[in-house]
Amino acid sequence: MSLIIVISTIPEGGIRRSVSKGKDWFDHLLPADEHRDFSVGDIHVEYTAERINEKVIVSGQIQATLVMVCCRCLEKFILHVGTPFRYIYQPEDDVQATDHELQDEELEWCFYHGDTIDISERIVEQIVLQVPMKPLCSENCKGICPVCGGNRNIKPCHHEDETTHSPFDALKNLKVKKGSS
Ligand SMILES: [Zn+2]
Ligand SMILES: [Zn+2]
Repeated sequence: MSLIIVISTIPEGGIRRSVSKGKDWFDHLLPADEHRDFSVGDIHVEYTAERINEKVIVSGQIQATLVMVCCRCLEKFILHVGTPFRYIYQPEDDVQATDHELQDEELEWCFYHGDTIDISERIVEQIVLQVPMKPLCSENCKGICPVCGGNRNIKPCHHEDETTHSPFDALKNLKVKKGSS
């Protein structure tokens, strides 16, 4: 089962497919570089493709696991994401005839050449759209202590409390008194 659809072989009632992909597939389409702060584990795509005259409607659901680094505690964690998708493909030479329909924002219009449609890139795009800007291992992540550098989720250290309380202030006051006398 693949993400490539041969248009002439789509039967009357359409096709339904269930496709699993992995990290290698994703990395091949979107090579990892310094701008990519996530990697992908399992990817599962379920979709249907129907043909209506020259148009092919592809819709389905993506489930993927992302491996990310939490922006607060810098630990790796796994995030499960999922999203529905829907694209309408039409022959590339047919663009002008349907220009007015492109305003329909609910739908994503795409074009195909020849007899095949490869939805791989669309799937990669959809997964990238699910990547959070500020990934958090948990809403309650306590982050890293700026004083001792420890992960507060694992080992609470109470440093934050100390910096806002008396010991530090008392020391400052002491210094001021010394200098002014
Ligand atoms: Zn975290
Ligand atoms: Zn600390």
